[in-house]
Amino acid sequence: TISQTITLANGVEMPRIGYGVFRMKEHEVAVDGVTEALKAGYRAIDTAAIYQNEEAVGEAIKASGIDRSELFITTKVWNADQGFDNTLRAFETSLKKLNLDYIDLYLTHWPKPTLADTYKAIERLYDEKLIRVPGVSNHHQHHLEEVFAVANVKPMVNQIECHPSLSQDALRAFCAEHNIPVTAWAPLGTGIVFTHPVVKNLAEKYGKTPAQIVLRWHLEIGNIAIPKSVTPERIKENLDVFGFALAADEVAAITALNTFHRTSADPDNFD
Ligand code: NAD
Repeated sequence: TISQTITLANGVEMPRIGYGVFRMKEHEVAVDGVTEALKAGYRAIDTAAIYQNEEAVGEAIKASGIDRSELFITTKVWNADQGFDNTLRAFETSLKKLNLDYIDLYLTHWPKPTLADTYKAIERLYDEKLIRVPGVSNHHQHHLEEVFAVANVKPMVNQIECHPSLSQDALRAFCAEHNIPVTAWAPLGTGIVFTHPVVKNLAEKYGKTPAQIVLRWHLEIGNIAIPKSVTPERIKENLDVFGFALAADEVAAITALNTFHRTSADPDNFD
């Protein structure tokens, strides 16, 4: 069995399935989505300064009445705010917008030439106990190595694009060697794989939806996943992936669907 949380390098427990809120800029949409997710049992929310919904996320959190200690909130420093001082300032702004007094996980959103200074600021926030976990996003192995060269504390999560069409085998193996769990963004990919016979047949076999098969695959390969939906039934369905298991050969068959297909830019060419 796979438990609902994963233990990070410093002992902090992070939910294996979180609720992603990208492309939910409209205030009411974001408040409703997060409210629905918290009601469905999600305890992790993945936002970012650039998503322009940190206030809405904060509002839904407060209104939920759920104890802060039960929640795991992730946000990210945007590219234009990188660098040591800028990152500290950007963090203050995010904290205020979220109406919180600490963040669980703070990430460098994309690697830029300033990634080392940015990470040092994240480390400072960790030393000051303003964040519980330092991390990065969209970092290839060579970006992680740049971070390692300056880090006193290694990042404890790398959030990268990962789904059956981009299974990220090499980067996942490198991260695993360094005890850095991968959080999969766009965990459902483009949805192309929902109609692939491998996924469809497994959905029939287990009486699950294709999305649940894909999310279970993430758990089986050791990932954290942060699916996004604004539809209440799908929000519930995406969290309901702990009650069944895929066999090793089934996991391998899904991993083999990899076509190196990215839904967005390669981190080496992102501007
Ligand atoms: P996703 O894989 O979570 O979802 C893609 C689409 O699948 C959704 O828009 C929805 O229409 C559909 N869907 C969701 N649940 C479904 C279900 N049960 N059945 C059928 N269809 C379903 O992709 P995403 O929203 O791009 O990524 C998820 C989260 O990852 C984002 O909300 C954000 O928090 C994070 N993210 C991070 C980065 C980064 O650079 N770090 C980039 C993109 C996204």
